[in-house]
Amino acid sequence: MTATDRNTRRLHIVTHGCQMNVYDSARMADVLAPLGYTAVDSPEGADMVIMNTCHIRERAAEKVFSALGRLRDLKEATGNQMMIAVTGCVAQAEGDILLKRAPYVDMVVGPQAYHRLPELIAQVHRSKGAVIDTDFPAEKKFDFLPDAAAPQGVIANLTIQEGCDKFCSFCVVPYTRGAEASRPVASIVAEARRMVAQGTREIALLGQNVNAYHGEGPDGRIWSLARLLSALAEIPGLSRLRYTTSHPSDMTEELILAHRDNPALMPFLHLPVQSGSDKILAAMNRKHKADDFRRIVTRLREARPDMAFTSDFIIGHPGETDADFAATMALVRETGFALAYSFNYSARPGTPAAGLAQIADEVKNARLYELQAELRRQQDAFNAATVGLNTPVLFTGLGRHPGQIAGRSLYAQPVVVESPVELTGEIHAVKITHANPNSLLGSLNKEVRAA
Ligand code: SAM
Ligand code: SF4
Repeated sequence: MTATDRNTRRLHIVTHGCQMNVYDSARMADVLAPLGYTAVDSPEGADMVIMNTCHIRERAAEKVFSALGRLRDLKEATGNQMMIAVTGCVAQAEGDILLKRAPYVDMVVGPQAYHRLPELIAQVHRSKGAVIDTDFPAEKKFDFLPDAAAPQGVIANLTIQEGCDKFCSFCVVPYTRGAEASRPVASIVAEARRMVAQGTREIALLGQNVNAYHGEGPDGRIWSLARLLSALAEIPGLSRLRYTTSHPSDMTEELILAHRDNPALMPFLHLPVQSGSDKILAAMNRKHKADDFRRIVTRLREARPDMAFTSDFIIGHPGETDADFAATMALVRETGFALAYSFNYSARPGTPAAGLAQIADEVKNARLYELQAELRRQQDAFNAATVGLNTPVLFTGLGRHPGQIAGRSLYAQPVVVESPVELTGEIHAVKITHANPNSLLGSLNKEVRAA
């Protein structure tokens, strides 16, 4: 049976990369819903498969080509009826190459153009050839997206800002996502209200540089992220707010104080530092020094003593010596992270650092190993310190095993408890009894269990 034989068409979306791509994939499903597309879990038998891709590191981009090879076989099995679209940052950066390497792809759509998907599908049907749309259109994507159709769940993401003007030496984002742009406050608040009406209790505001947010407020003035967060905190039923990813040079005192004054704001911040060496930070064009990061961490801990931090590190950026790496390790030991992400530097075509002399893989691997061992120790220590505490948990649904329910702590740690009642969407105190490497076990107090 082909797509045209049915009113309902099957849509399978594969998402690679960051939370922003997760959000974009959900919005693409919303854009296609009026055309009769409904989401399915597997590409087998799908009328359309969208691969929403990531270009941040070489390995991420290569993953796309191997996954596309598998889709080609499925497409051939449908007599080439299945439509394949590649969206996201690989589409933006490698559109033409992609169509040469994978000529069975029907559509290549950049991250700022996916609101045009219905029109592009019609073009494919008309032209019987591949279409490519990697413009940064003058019309704003968010003005053209329909309201989210499907409930996003108890914990959900909401993109409030896109793009980046910072041009770090290693990063493709300014080229793939375009210039920094903030959505107006009214459209964000309206979307958050709809999400809460559908059961969302925690929202993570997303942006490549979310703390650089400067959107038009309902009063016609430019609002900061701190001001937006206080407006969102007033929505009845919205219990928790987070924001990610922040840049140290946009971490204002106003935003630091929001962690003290806004009770909905979680005491947890993802603040990528990338390196502890000022020489490497300058080579990275990061616009902050290691001491700026230290000062922000200290101020946030003064403002909110239970504050915890996560970060990103790049190991082996061109020019990194043993002494530079030692400075990174010193910063890590001093700060104490709840969790952190670390990557070997990956040269990305078109970025300034890609043309510089590269560090040998063995050197990078040895440094990354040492850093990750320390970060693992810190994560284990952070989780172990929660054992014995009573901590508020927002329940999101059933656990993996019968009789279990699962939720998230203030620090987004997955928490699992035994419970005879489902508490989805509710926050209850849980006594933490055991810490696993990536999750916590706990018990509810007697009154809740009996309720
Ligand atoms: N805007 C954020 C910031 O300022 O740090 C980062 C966003 S970036 C999409 C996510 C992470 O990917 C970065 O923090 C960095 O650690 C990592 N990353 C970016 N480019 C990379 C590269 N060329 N090689 C390795 N890791 C990279
Ligand atoms: Fe990339 Fe973040 Fe630097 Fe922007 S600030 S260029 S998104 S690493």
